[in-house]
Amino acid sequence: MIDMTRVLADTPGAAKQVFLNSAGSSLPPAPVLQEVIGHLRREAEIGGYEALDEREADLEAGYAVFAELLGCRPDQVAFTDSATRSWLAAFDAVPLAAGDRILVGELEYGGNAIPLLMRAQAVGVSVELVPSDADGTFSADALADLLDERVKLVSVVQVPTNGGAVADVRRVSDAAHAAGALVLLDACQAVGQLAVDAEALDVDILTGTGRKWLRGPRGTGFLVVRDRAKAVLRPKLADLQGGTWTGPDTYTLRDDARVYELWENDTAARLGLIAAARYLLDLGPAAVEQEVTQRSTYLRAGLAAIPGVTVHDLGVRKSGLVTFSIAGLEATEVQAALARRDVAVSVSRRSSTYYDMARRGLTEVVRASPHYFVTEAQLDAALGAVGAVAEAARKAAD
Ligand SMILES: *Cc1c(COP(=O)(O)O)cnc(C)c1O
Repeated sequence: MIDMTRVLADTPGAAKQVFLNSAGSSLPPAPVLQEVIGHLRREAEIGGYEALDEREADLEAGYAVFAELLGCRPDQVAFTDSATRSWLAAFDAVPLAAGDRILVGELEYGGNAIPLLMRAQAVGVSVELVPSDADGTFSADALADLLDERVKLVSVVQVPTNGGAVADVRRVSDAAHAAGALVLLDACQAVGQLAVDAEALDVDILTGTGRKWLRGPRGTGFLVVRDRAKAVLRPKLADLQGGTWTGPDTYTLRDDARVYELWENDTAARLGLIAAARYLLDLGPAAVEQEVTQRSTYLRAGLAAIPGVTVHDLGVRKSGLVTFSIAGLEATEVQAALARRDVAVSVSRRSSTYYDMARRGLTEVVRASPHYFVTEAQLDAALGAVGAVAEAARKAAD
């Protein structure tokens, strides 16, 4: 059980609206705010390097905090400035040669797909689609049929940006590893709402962001590189953080995941990110998962019962992202109409998940993502608002 009194006291913004956009950028809790603002103040007082020195131990401890949160070792963790930066750093380090193959799922994220296609076209690698299961998620069986020794990488998204579906990642990992391929997991929409354990999922690389379900500051991300990947990856973009200049034409690289970090970073934001992870560990990721699942299930059922509303989520196992549309209205019109009723939702567009949206004939969907700080009364208010918007659209069509 989550202590809602404490959570709401830590989240003043949650009372001012029905905030249903934690899949976009959530409301950071008070301890995150204090950490970020406090550190900026300290930098203004004594200087950025001096302020950093004061917090060196806390920053170091952050690797162990994320190791605990994500089920890995501290030396397997790197901090970055976004999930995409983490993904690019790791993907760029995967050795690829002409004729190699990369397999991706239908729910692949656009920010990953573009660099995948760019590199594939430059190197002569093929990017091939793994058909989904009947439930619409990554099919480990279809993957097994496509695998051979030329497949170097399997890219899988645990929870897509455009819906609630949760992939069965462990089955994907087992199939990929049997054929000698690495598994790169985009856990960006999972960490912070679902309990995610890199070891249990047996993924080789895991990427995520601070600002979404984790409730951290914007401009923060994290990366996990486990041993199977470490043995194969060749980091390419190291600087003074990842390496040491040892002679006129020699250098050494770090042996841990921090080889993927750059020297300069936003210390205040990183401290905020670590505070967000501590906050989640304190609440308990399993308890959070239960609360988010309960809220999204309630919202999905309520939406499905409203005339004119279609719910679009795939998957047998569903998570906290609820997507829908209202007959006769563009998603952006729904978003604006709900904003006028103090309900914050976002819109997910085809270019973010092209394979899936094109396959289903969708151009955009409304996305509502309730975190544990949203109350049941607020969900009812949101459902009432959607009902009113849908009814107005029906009347306008008559
Ligand atoms: C938001 C998102 C990303 C990118 O996260 P950034 O922190 O913006 O780089 C990656 N994958 C999925 C599934 C996402 O929803």
